[in-house]
Amino acid sequence: MKFKIKHYREKCIGCGSCSSICPKNWVMKKDGKAAPIKTELDEIGCNQQAADSCPVKIIKITKIK
Ligand code: SF4
Repeated sequence: MKFKIKHYREKCIGCGSCSSICPKNWVMKKDGKAAPIKTELDEIGCNQQAADSCPVKIIKITKIK
């Protein structure tokens, strides 16, 4: 099982929640918005908590083969 992350970046409000909860895969960029380091992962790990914590719910995780 692999997981794919979709981040609707244009809607990111730059709250920093994802990067503080899951710093190994989320970083804050110079424009003040977050970005995932990897968008295809073998283990979802803390990305689920990051998605759950996003106040504008713009981190979507889907399962891929
Ligand atoms: S938690 Fe959501 S709104 Fe906050 S920085 Fe991350 S992606 Fe952007």
